[in-house]
Order: sequence, then structure tokens, then C-alpha cells
Amino acid sequence: MKTRPYQICTHCVMDTSDPEIVFDSAGVCNHCHDFEHHQKPQLIGGSAGAVALDAIVTQIKEQGKGQEYDCIIGISGGVDSSYVAYRVLELGLRPLAVHVDTGWNSELAVSNIEKIVSALGIDLHTTVIDWEEMRDLQLAFLRSGVANCDVPQDHTFVAVLFKLAARKSIRWIISGHNLQTESILPEAWGYTSIDRKHLRSIHNLYGSRPLRTFPTYSLFDYTFYWPFVKRNKILKMLNFEDYNKQSAKQFLIERFGWRDYGGKHYESRFTKFFQSYYLPKKFGFDKRRAHLASLVVSGQLSREAALSELELPPYNEAEAAEDCSFVAKKLGINKSELESIIAASPKTYRDYPSNADLIDRLLRVKAKLARLLRSDK
Ligand SMILES: [Zn+2]
Repeated sequence: MKTRPYQICTHCVMDTSDPEIVFDSAGVCNHCHDFEHHQKPQLIGGSAGAVALDAIVTQIKEQGKGQEYDCIIGISGGVDSSYVAYRVLELGLRPLAVHVDTGWNSELAVSNIEKIVSALGIDLHTTVIDWEEMRDLQLAFLRSGVANCDVPQDHTFVAVLFKLAARKSIRWIISGHNLQTESILPEAWGYTSIDRKHLRSIHNLYGSRPLRTFPTYSLFDYTFYWPFVKRNKILKMLNFEDYNKQSAKQFLIERFGWRDYGGKHYESRFTKFFQSYYLPKKFGFDKRRAHLASLVVSGQLSREAALSELELPPYNEAEAAEDCSFVAKKLGINKSELESIIAASPKTYRDYPSNADLIDRLLRVKAKLARLLRSDK
């Protein structure tokens, strides 16, 4: 990797720790331009958002008539998914909440999920992933040295949700993903979790036991079978609201006694270690930068506030030591082995077999097909 002079965007807080970042003559980065041209137009807040959301909710109710549930919501215990659970009920929908227990839940996550679903009276389905398989796969990813070691959790989460939707004939999946707080994530910081070939190739090389029950899906499922045969639809409802993360958090605390984790995606003990220690230490990627930049471009945080937060180290030494011990022990390796995994030279997903090129092509075809079907209505 060539070294380049340090530069930080004059509008958000992304910098050259994204090796592919480019800046215009005013010093504004490609992520800011992307947000302005491609993502901001998808954010419809205010009364227009309410009208658009209402139309979709009516459709969900209509299509779910006679069924036990009209939608599925994934619930991790984090702010976005907890807030979605509340809003979905408020809109009069009949959700089944689904939680995927990969063995990494923090105690706080379990308690937050419990508080939300019991206060709202939502049915909760929990899929527990076989720990020995999860452990083997998670360790294989760490040993492979790639940047996105959270592929196993992310991949299986999607697999569980859609397979359950198919089994229960539920068409709609309502997601807490939103462009107000999650618009920026450099491609160079990780590889997609949808690629089962990549997952399997890393497991074949570094794993030690077969994956017999670990839920996965194929590219065919993702790009064609689910959207066009099962006609599953994903609603990212927060994009239709003036969603503000800070206010949502405050609301959840006051209304449900929900408790804060102190970091994005920290409801998973692995993700906390991975984002706050593994990535900064091994690759120099600080995911807080992308999270904060997302809040800056959507106007939820000032650039100055984001910069001063970034002045704090991504991890505190004592906490990092505790997280490393926890992760090593849970994975069944000693702490020095984990440290040497982190110290080994970084790899990219391109060092392993993947379907990267095919995915690009398939996603383009899928988008074209979806546009054709929409204009056909
Ligand atoms: Zn920028």
C-alpha cells in the first residue's frame, strides 16, 4: 500500500485512513458527495415521509391479513432496532421480533431486548447458533487476517431472518438500518458479508470442524430467490422519519429503562473488541470515524464535536485488555495467540477466493430488474 500525505475532509471527518478516499478542490471527500447525491435523496422526513411510510404500512397490513404476523423485525438490543420495535407497534403492525444469539451477546443486550419486547408485548423468536461452529468460524476469520472479521455474525443474521420469513410466509422485514447514522463506511475497510464463497473459503483454510448447522445463504437466495420468488421486501423505516439517534436513545431510556452500551454495535462483545481494538490496532481503521462522519453529514453532530470525540483513543488500555482476555478465553485460545493474530500482517479479502466480481454484476442486474418491476406496476 502506497503511503500518501495525511488529509482530512473539510466537511465531515473522514481522512486518509480510508486508502481509497478522494477529495475535490475544496477538500470535500467522496463520501460527502456520495451522501449528497445518492443517499440524502432517500431520506424523506417530515410530513412527506409520514405519508410515504403510511402508504407502505397500509400495504404491509393488507398483505399480512390472515397471517399471525405481518412483518419481522430483527432485534439486537441496540438503539436502532429497539426504536424500530417501538415504532412498528405504534404504527399498528404485528411484528415477530427475531434475535440471533451468536454467543457474543453482552448481558446488557439480553436485558435491553427483554425490556423492550416485554414492555411492548411483542413475540420474540431467538435462534441460537451452535457455539462450536460459531467459534470455529470466528477463529478462522481472525486467523485469516482479513479486515471484516464480523462476516460470520452479519451473514448468519441475514440468513436466519430471511429463512424464518420464508418458513412463516412473512413478506416484510423491517430493518433499523438508516442513512441518518450509517451512511458512510469505506469499502476498503471491509468486505461484504453476503459472499458465502468467501466465508467458506476462509473456513476451509483455517477452520477445524464442518459447519453442519450454521445458517448461511447463497448469492442466488439474496439477489433473486428472496426478492423475486418469495417477494420479500425490506423496509428501512427510519429513513422515512426525522430519526435522531440521540433523541431515540433518550426516549428508550426514559420509556423502557433501556441502558446505553457506550459504543455503536457494542451489544456484541465480539463486535466491541473487533471495532474498538482489532481494526484500529491491526489496520488503523477506526470505525468511530465513519459513524461520526455519518452523523456529521446528516446534520446530527457538528464537525467540531466529532473531531473532539476522535481525539479520545479508540480504546482504553484497561478495557481493551479485559476484552482481549474475554474474547481469547471464549474462543479457546490463549491471550498471546490472540495478540499474535493481531500482530500478523494484514490481509485483504482478495487474498482468498470470493465472488466479488460476480456480486457487482448480480447487484446491478437485481437493481435493473427491481426498477423494471416497479415501472411495470
Ligand atoms: Zn467528507
